[in-house]
Amino acid sequence: MTNVNNKTQTVDITIVGGNIIGAATALSLAKIGFSVALIEKTPPSVEPFGATGPYALRVSAIIPVVRNFLQQIGVWQELLEQRIQPVHTMQVWEKDLEHSLHFNQQHPEQHLAWIIENNHIQNICWRLLAKSSCKIITGEWQKIKKLPAQQGMEMTINTADSPSATKIQSKLLIGADGAKSTIRQWSGILCTQKPYHQHCIVGNVRTEKPHQHTAWQRYHNGLAFAFLPLADGSCSIAWYVDENQSTKILEQTSEQHKQTIYQASGAMLGKISEINEINAFPIIRSDANTLYNENLLLIGDAVRTIHPMAGQGVNLGLCDASVLTEIMGYAYDHKLAINEPLILRKYARKRSEYKLLQTGMDTINFLFQNSAITDIRPSVLKHLNKLSFGKNLLADTAMGYHTHLPNKIKQINIPTQ
Ligand SMILES: Cc1cc2nc3c(=O)[nH]c(=O)nc-3n(C[C@H](O)[C@H](O)[C@H](O)COP(=O)(O)OP(=O)(O)OC[C@H]3O[C@@H](n4cnc5c(N)ncnc54)[C@H](O)[C@@H]3O)c2cc1C
Repeated sequence: MTNVNNKTQTVDITIVGGNIIGAATALSLAKIGFSVALIEKTPPSVEPFGATGPYALRVSAIIPVVRNFLQQIGVWQELLEQRIQPVHTMQVWEKDLEHSLHFNQQHPEQHLAWIIENNHIQNICWRLLAKSSCKIITGEWQKIKKLPAQQGMEMTINTADSPSATKIQSKLLIGADGAKSTIRQWSGILCTQKPYHQHCIVGNVRTEKPHQHTAWQRYHNGLAFAFLPLADGSCSIAWYVDENQSTKILEQTSEQHKQTIYQASGAMLGKISEINEINAFPIIRSDANTLYNENLLLIGDAVRTIHPMAGQGVNLGLCDASVLTEIMGYAYDHKLAINEPLILRKYARKRSEYKLLQTGMDTINFLFQNSAITDIRPSVLKHLNKLSFGKNLLADTAMGYHTHLPNKIKQINIPTQ
């Protein structure tokens, strides 16, 4: 790992933000041959994960195309198989399982998704970055100066391990610094935000009945409750509650949590026998009005946040990384300027399709919250379940097959673990 000090360094690309999205992007762009600097204010631990041990609170359902991208950049192979849980089926219901939407994996070698801890993926990215040519800078950017024409910009960074600031000059700046992106704000890109007035309570529990490799999602009073299967037989919960309710729930004792979670789940997996800490996150929709500006691109939550009900945030961010890798790979091979507006626009055009998914999530949210259709919703779900063409189309879209992603990662028949 290179620590940069004092003097100005020149790289092709600077990335601000080193969580999963920024770190995976840094790794893939460095693999192409670009010189990359990654700036992160809170670097993760790079201690190897153990095969056993408690699960982190934040997990993601990684879809097949994203799994393929992670494999392409060498991350998937390094993840511990023992901590990855494939999802074979998904059940979505409101009244009962007879009136449910049921998704099965369509290809024996391709699961619907894999449940993985976020910090496990980030840890592997950072361990691989440490062996790559990428310059890692721990700190926060302080000042950005635009340089004339296509020379890009110069960034001044306050680093944790040096009393004097570090300067980095690069042609392209990538903002991967999350929903409250300061890079986006600096660039003048506007972002609209809409709170859902819901919080998502997450935690890990053990249930009386086995999870059966299934993701279970129940709607009750317009809000979703999900059990996501974990590799050690326990489940991660994603429990959406009204924002006013969440503080009260967090204050409950762990015995009360077991009881309220049992009720919220509709007793689907029986009683809750164990629970660790739980935490709540506010749910906000946000949309940057463009994905690029002069010499600058946004990726991940810096572009958008989406209702996590469909588990798509990390997936969308890694799809950004995958499309960017393809476009930048082309630019590298053809010796094109990476900050050429045509190149930046191409990325923005391909990735703007996320809006469709965002609207889809809002529509589902609205339909389940609409009390005027409470009585007919169960039979609509039941009938929708029988329309295999429509159902498969929905599943394939959620899994990223009907998108402008590189064909390489849309292959189905690749070996899984
Ligand atoms: C409750 C909940 C459940 C979710 N479940 C899922 C799921 O099942 N599946 C899924 O795909 N998605 C899920 N998501 C969404 C997912 O967590 C996010 O989309 C994803 O974490 C975004 O990653 P990111 O790297 O873009 O941003 P972040 O995770 O916010 O990372 C930004 C990084 O930038 C760094 N940073 C910020 N500012 C600076 C600065 N000035 N200088 C240096 N570094 C900086 C931060 O330290 C951080 O490391 C969920 C979200 C929530 C709230």
